[in-house]
Amino acid sequence: MPYTAPLDDFRLLSDLQGTDDAHDILTGAARLCESTLAPLQRIGDTHPARLENGVTRTPPGFAEGYRAIADGGWIGICASPDHGGLGLPLSVATAVNEMMASACLALQLNPLMTQGQIEALEHHAGPEMKALYLPKLISGEWSGTMNLTEPQAGSDVGALTTRAVPEGDTFRITGQKIFITWADNDFTDNVCHLVLARLPDAPAGTKGISLFMVPKILPDGSRNALRVLSLEHKLGLHGSPTAVMEYGGATGWIIGEPHKGMAAMFTMMNNARLGVATQGIGVAEAACQLAEAHAAQRIQNGPIANHPDVRRMLARMRAETFAARAIALSCAAAADAGNTARAAFLTPIAKSFGTETGMRVADLGIQVHGGMGYIEETGAAQLWRDVRVTAIYEGTNGIQAIDLIGRKLSDDGAAAFALLDEMHPDLAEAAQTLRHVTQALLARTVQDRLAGAAPYLRAFALTLGTHWHLRAAEADPARAPLARFMLRNVLPEHAALAAEALEDVPSA
Ligand SMILES: Cc1cc2nc3c(=O)[nH]c(=O)nc-3n(C[C@H](O)[C@H](O)[C@H](O)COP(=O)(O)OP(=O)(O)OC[C@H]3O[C@@H](n4cnc5c(N)ncnc54)[C@H](O)[C@@H]3O)c2cc1C
Repeated sequence: MPYTAPLDDFRLLSDLQGTDDAHDILTGAARLCESTLAPLQRIGDTHPARLENGVTRTPPGFAEGYRAIADGGWIGICASPDHGGLGLPLSVATAVNEMMASACLALQLNPLMTQGQIEALEHHAGPEMKALYLPKLISGEWSGTMNLTEPQAGSDVGALTTRAVPEGDTFRITGQKIFITWADNDFTDNVCHLVLARLPDAPAGTKGISLFMVPKILPDGSRNALRVLSLEHKLGLHGSPTAVMEYGGATGWIIGEPHKGMAAMFTMMNNARLGVATQGIGVAEAACQLAEAHAAQRIQNGPIANHPDVRRMLARMRAETFAARAIALSCAAAADAGNTARAAFLTPIAKSFGTETGMRVADLGIQVHGGMGYIEETGAAQLWRDVRVTAIYEGTNGIQAIDLIGRKLSDDGAAAFALLDEMHPDLAEAAQTLRHVTQALLARTVQDRLAGAAPYLRAFALTLGTHWHLRAAEADPARAPLARFMLRNVLPEHAALAAEALEDVPSA
């Protein structure tokens, strides 16, 4: 699928957000995405990953694409130079990850998982484990996974039952995990699994979960007692193997303190949540480009791009994509600036709004294509199928919204109000509405806020997104028409959402 990286948007947003524009670095990543990764997008869909006699086979070209990503240093883009990383800011990584997601989402998911693992090890592993794993993960010789989910433990991670029994300095890991992304492949020498499990004396729930490193190949070169039982048949992302994993007394090493695994895993998940936001935005960008190209050449009573309703769809696709991109990059910029409260507040918004935008824009992209969108050759349908899961994994969007109105307002709304104070003057009314809703929610117990969580999150996202549109139009008048569209045609939804945020829902 042809793809052109949105370098102008990245440059403008880095100017507005005061981050390093890293133009040469982004240009290098853009070249890789446009020429090497984008051609793999359709191949991954038509030649799914498969399990052959216990060996996971990946789509043709994925091994070479992965090598190109690794050789460019992109896996360790944010990792510390101490172990071979590039040590670049998260805002640069966020732009790079978005471009890779546009080019080939199924393959991008692999380094994304490894990046999360690198961050978890950097923060929580001891020096020996760091020295053994980080150089290989950063170079891409080895890849990383995260293993939380079990049949009875999805959003309720605390219900997991995989066991870890101490044996000398190591642990025997026994249990079954499901839905494990890139659990194996045929292009790295090792696959390193971060596994959540319970020690024999563990308290119930999330307070009794510990984190373990469980590599496919042990340090002595022998195979560990773990295997891929099967690969899932999915709606999309066919190029990415999603596995049921069996741990049959596998050897593992504990990371961090016993029973403190959730804290360590959260390090990985925060990074991954922003990474998943970039997946939604990347697919939205790809859908925009595909739909614009189709609308320019399809003739029905003249070029369809001239029909106001098609222009409406294209404008909404572009407007929401830019808004989601700006929010994700502002979240990364806050993290880079050490404004952890702001980064933490923006993370669930970036994840939920970014992935919702991916779904909505891909859906509109199909509509712009007419019947050609519903059949597979154009690739419009694949984008929609692929992006659908981004609203489900890394914490469903429902769980993100609960995080926002619970934990992320637990500072009495300080992070929320600080953001609202900075909104563009044209958004004074919208910011005031959100201030009132935030105050009203804070006056309730967290339990009594839950029904309004998702509409509150979206209302906030639309306001933040419009703010960046207005700032962009001030910096570049060519962007004014899209900013006006965002302000007048899209933002008004926030008022209805704000009202909904304070309403109850029927009981089951
Ligand atoms: C393609 C794919 C790849 C994946 N990759 C990985 C991976 O690499 N590693 C891994 O560990 N897992 C992975 N997952 C699992 C994924 O993280 C879970 O599917 C997700 O956490 C949701 O859990 P669940 O499917 O059990 O849904 P459930 O938890 O059963 O949720 C069903 C619905 O109920 C809602 N819900 C649940 N609890 C609450 C609550 N307390 N309040 C409000 N609403 C609630 C949810 O929002 C959702 O809408 C993957 C899944 C897929 C499909």
